Parts: sequence; structure tokens; C-alpha cells
Amino acid sequence: MLYQSTTDSSVRITAAEAIARGVAPDGGLYVPESIPQLSHGEIANLIPKPYHKRAAYIMGLFLDDFSEQELDEFTSQAYSSPAFSHPGIAPVNSLDENTFFLELWHGPTSAFKDMALQMLPRLLTASLKKNGEPRDVCILVATSGDTGKAALEGFKDVPGTKIIVFYPKDGVSDIQELQMTSQSGDNVSVVAVEGNFDDAQTGVKTIFSDIGFAEKLDQHGVFLSSANSINWGRLVPQIAYYISAYCDLVRSDTIKLGDKINFCVPTGNFGNILAGYYAFKMGLPINKLICATNRNDVLADFFHSGIYDKQRVFHTTISPSMDILISNNLERLLFDLSGKNSSEVSGYKEALSKTGRYDVSEIIHSKAAELFPSGRASEEDTRKTISEVFEKHGYLMDTHTAVAYKVLQDYRAETADSTVAVVVSTASPFKFCDSVLDALGKTSTQRGAELINILAETTNQPIPAPLADMGTKTARFRDFVTIGEMKKAVSDFLGVNSFN
Ligand SMILES: *Cc1c(COP(=O)(O)O)cnc(C)c1O
Repeated sequence: MLYQSTTDSSVRITAAEAIARGVAPDGGLYVPESIPQLSHGEIANLIPKPYHKRAAYIMGLFLDDFSEQELDEFTSQAYSSPAFSHPGIAPVNSLDENTFFLELWHGPTSAFKDMALQMLPRLLTASLKKNGEPRDVCILVATSGDTGKAALEGFKDVPGTKIIVFYPKDGVSDIQELQMTSQSGDNVSVVAVEGNFDDAQTGVKTIFSDIGFAEKLDQHGVFLSSANSINWGRLVPQIAYYISAYCDLVRSDTIKLGDKINFCVPTGNFGNILAGYYAFKMGLPINKLICATNRNDVLADFFHSGIYDKQRVFHTTISPSMDILISNNLERLLFDLSGKNSSEVSGYKEALSKTGRYDVSEIIHSKAAELFPSGRASEEDTRKTISEVFEKHGYLMDTHTAVAYKVLQDYRAETADSTVAVVVSTASPFKFCDSVLDALGKTSTQRGAELINILAETTNQPIPAPLADMGTKTARFRDFVTIGEMKKAVSDFLGVNSFN
């Protein structure tokens, strides 16, 4: 199967090339030329299998330049103990007879980014080998918290790779910062940047587009690449957990094979829910993919109106991983819904960069609105939802998952749709202790790792293994640079003199 670009109809490359390149030279995103179909018989075969076997099978349908043996090896290494602390890897937990949580946070960094970032380094290094790439790769990341740590854990000590993560000094939680600065591994570096997340991201983009710097690195046998969610290698592992959740619900006799279910997804960059869309296109019986946003509701507005308008106030919320105004992966949905019309997609992108908005065709809007009901949750709703669900069911959610649960409740009240629904749970509540304690009415004056123990005592919930010893961790990386000094930080890390 070959891959094409959302904005250039002439491109046809292999999966290995798409993964190694990340983004097309003109800024387009790589998508599979056709969507492989999954029959009910194939789903039935996956039901008795463990998570890593299900994942290998599903990824194999998209990555046919990888052998079955390779994918079996990669998934059995990626989705295993002790990196994942739950034997189900991505278990489905029931709240009541038609509401379930798909918990994607039992990996090494306690957020759903691990599902993809435990696989990406394996897919990327194998891709480089397939492509005959002689150079080492250096992954450059700007993070607002979850991606940086998950990428560090994924790439640490992977031969042929190095990784440097930049985070905004005052833009991440204490726990997120300590998780990153205490990172182990011989090929990693973590640097705090003066400024906010956008500044750090702009700094990284500037380094990526510095041709002279790329040539210098090339002479040293290194090239730069990215681990963010526009890489196909990050999306394809995510398709697997939608199908795995369906298998689990059939296995537990909650549904019969063929019954349709709903998923409700807390959404930021549109990567997670887009993987659900690909599962739907493969033939997984999905009724609705409910798109949940926080106060940064550009996507909820888009699905309601057909207008994507990023010109609005950016809110910093208690669900920071959804604080996004440009949802990059939406482009892949538009491409598919337009009947693969790359000039139409290019037009929308151009309008977005020139005017800050675009208005999709009526055909795209009606198809999108039909499959993707959407809603938003306020900060107050989110906090209330956490405490209500904990009091009523004893189930503790993080702030992102709570946004999705609240939006699902609203959707059910509006539509009377009682289809079995799976809320995609994206982070452990222990990653956002301060906000979760606040929601429970137990606001604490303590900071950082102390809060983990306080939340555990307050709720009697187990601390995820990767966060249990945070109190004993010390920072290994203390570099603090200005935006202008970021390139020098990369040069120093790679042992390359940036000035000649
Ligand atoms: C990244 C993230 C999200 C948003 O996922 P997208 O793929 O960007 O839509 C939601 N919740 C958590 C905890 C995350 O880390």
C-alpha cells in the first residue's frame, strides 16, 4: 500500500518513507491511498488475542512493507510489562451497563501518548533501515507537557537516535517538569525555554527550516526529524485500540459482534479521534465519534457550523493537553471527506494561514456533522463531573477524560441515543493532581510530587507505578535558554559547532 499527500496529488511513497519523512515537503500530511477493510470474521479472530497481537495485525494492514514478524516483535516489546503496568495494556473499564472507559494511560508516562510513542521509535528505526538511510536521526520536540515525556521514554537508548526536548519554563506542571528533567538515557537532552509553548514551537520550526544547519548536520551524519502527531507512525498505532476496545466489549458479552457503539474522545490536535475515524472506515461498527472540547472549542464550533475559525481568545485550562487552536490532523479528515481533493484541501489551508479561517463545502460539513456530534465542557463542568462521578461510582477521572464524559452526558440528554458508549480516557488523574484535588474540594497548598500522595490518601486510589517514586527523583537537566539560543543547544547536544 502506498501513501499520498493531502495537498499534492502526485506523491506516492511507501509507509517506511512516510514515517521517516514525517511531513511532505510542501507541508501536506501523508495518508494511505486506500483504507484496508476489516471483516467481522477478522474481528472475531482478534477477540481471543492479547493486545499486542491485535495491534500487530491491525498495523500490518496499513504497513505492508513491514513483515508480520517485524510487527509482532515491535508490538510485543512496546506493549508489555514493565513499561505498561496493566496486563490489558489498554483495558476497558465499565461504569454502568452502557458506559465504558478505554484507559490509555497505563504506559510509562501515564498519558495516552505512550500508545503511539512506545511504537514510533521502533517503526522509525526500521523505516530508516528499509530506506537505506545511513545517517542517525535526532528527534526535536517542543512540548506543552505530555508529548515530551512520552517521546523521551520512547526514544531513550534507542540505537541510531537522539532526542532533545524543549519545554516552556513556566508552561508545564511541576510533575510534568520533573518527569522530563529527571529522564534517564544516554541519548536524551531536556532544555527549558524562556517563553510560552508557541515560542518553543516556533524555535523548533525555525531550526527545522534552517537549510545551512541541515547541511552541517548532514556532514556529521545526522538529520533532524519530528515525533509529533502529524507523523503517520504516530497515528497508525492508535487505530488498534479502537478495535481492541470493540473486541473486549464483544468478549464480555456487552455487545454482539456487528452491534454499533459510540466513542467519545477528548480532543486537541484531532489525532486520537482521527484514528477512530480510520477504524470506522475500516468497517468497525461505529455509530458516532463524539468530539469533546474544553473552552478552546474551535472544533465543536467547526462541526456545528462548517466554519473553522482560529481567531479567538486562547484559554489556559485545567485540561492543558487540549488547549489548541490549530488542530493539525483535521486536514486528513477534510481530505477524505472531500473525496481526496488535494486542491480543495490546499485552498482551506491557504485560507487558514491568510485569514485565520475557512468555510468547508456543504458536502464536507454535512458528512462531518453526521458522524461527529460535538460539544464543550467548561472548567466548572469539568470539576463538577470529576467529583460527581467519583462520589457516585468511585471512579476517578483526570481533567481531560472528564471533559469527554461531560460531553457524552450532554449528547445523551439531547439525542436520547442510548448506544453503548466508550469514553476514551487519556491520562491518569495522578498526572493532574492539583486540578483533580481542587475538583474534589481538597485544594492543597503543597506542590509537585507531594500532591501525588495527598491525592492517593484522599481518594484511596493506587498511584500509577511510573509516578510512585516521583518524590525521590532529582533533576538531571537544568539548562535554561532563550529562543535564540535553542539552535546552539541542539549543536552542543550533537557535538557540532554551529558557527562554522
Ligand atoms: C494529547 C492529549 C489529548 C488530545 O489528543 P489529540 O490527539 O491531540 O486530540 C487529550 N488528553 C490528553 C491527556 C493528552 O495528552
